[in-house]
Amino acid sequence: MSLKLSDFLRNTGTFLKGRAPGQAIIQLTDHCNARCPQCGMRVQEKFDRHRLSDERLFAMIDRAAENGVNAISFTGGEPFLHTDTLINCVNRSSENGIKFIRTGTNAYFLTGHDKPDFTDKVKRMAERIAATKLYTIWFSLDTWNAELHEEMRGLRGVVKGMEKALPIFAEYGIYPSANLGINRNVSFGDIPELTSGESKAVFRESFMEGFRRFYSFAENLGFTIVNACYPMSADGNTVYRAESADRIVKFTVEEKIELFTALSEAIPEYRSRLRIFTPRSSLLSLLRQYKGDETADYGCRGGIDFFYIDGKNGHAHPCGFREGEDMGAYEQFEAKGFGIKASCRKCDWECFRDPSTLLGPVTEFFEHPAGLLSRFANDREFFRLWLEDIRYYSACGFFNGREKPDFTKMSRFKTTK
Ligand code: SF4
Ligand code: SF4
Repeated sequence: MSLKLSDFLRNTGTFLKGRAPGQAIIQLTDHCNARCPQCGMRVQEKFDRHRLSDERLFAMIDRAAENGVNAISFTGGEPFLHTDTLINCVNRSSENGIKFIRTGTNAYFLTGHDKPDFTDKVKRMAERIAATKLYTIWFSLDTWNAELHEEMRGLRGVVKGMEKALPIFAEYGIYPSANLGINRNVSFGDIPELTSGESKAVFRESFMEGFRRFYSFAENLGFTIVNACYPMSADGNTVYRAESADRIVKFTVEEKIELFTALSEAIPEYRSRLRIFTPRSSLLSLLRQYKGDETADYGCRGGIDFFYIDGKNGHAHPCGFREGEDMGAYEQFEAKGFGIKASCRKCDWECFRDPSTLLGPVTEFFEHPAGLLSRFANDREFFRLWLEDIRYYSACGFFNGREKPDFTKMSRFKTTK
């Protein structure tokens, strides 16, 4: 399932129309069994919960394929509360020719690692997944401290369970990704109020050390792929609800600048050891945005080529966060982004922001090559990072969670600190 030249050629027609390959994120359900303080869907929140029917999900997947989607994600809530439906959706997607099929979990089914049937239970799950063409499965991990992660999630023993399960998954050719939802608990040591240059440096260093510890922690647990979800803070009323107004994910602009700088500086130290999905060109764009400079920022393709489908009504939305922009039932939805400029920058949702930045120069090449050349000449910093990201993605086999990492290729990205 590696990425081939034919995959790029198949997308050429899309790029020629000024579009990027489509992405759909479908919320199977908003039911969840975890207690995460950073999320509005945690089990203790009281609201009417929903689950999309299999029939509608299949119709949506068929429509997604017709709409040119080649990356589909099944999210929750907790998607593995409905494993049969989830597996059927993955199969339906691959039957429709969708290549990048992703899902994730809080890994609640990996609690109870000390029970006698744990290994058999994990094997049964791995067998089921191995029989599909699922490209990525992510396990959420909120910090580098196992105890703190388990306390945040309300899932005692889940980290040990992941550690025991990862080699079993590997036997079945499955390499899950550790997904870090960035929050204040990632920092190492106390983080100061930002009042001076000195406190900014301390803030940045505490997160940089936190990111280093997180990468080492994930590596020691046996993960080979890692991603970071940028903090999502909102005061309610989003479609997705995967965010919170809690201080744990609420960062000021000044703090975000230090946070994204810390992440960008920590990544190179681990690129030869772990497949790290986070593109540094995207972090540069976010940093520039927060510093008031949007040079080389390609804007988000949410609502143009990327869409979010809610678990309540099964309706399309530009993303999970722009409330009040209901585009109707997804199974009847026709994506028509022609001529719409990608310009939204209202949030940092990495699911849409990262691929928007990575695909930006490619869409511009087909749409407005002179503009791209001029950008290229005037913004070496961005293009240096962008080209490095593309080379790195290639060395990582485009994060195929069904293949082992190629450490020989990744070793080209080894840095001395
Ligand atoms: S972050 Fe995920 S696991 Fe945690 S409450 Fe929200 S949906 Fe559930
Ligand atoms: S930037 Fe955020 S709010 Fe805007 S379309 Fe993208 S995901 Fe949605």
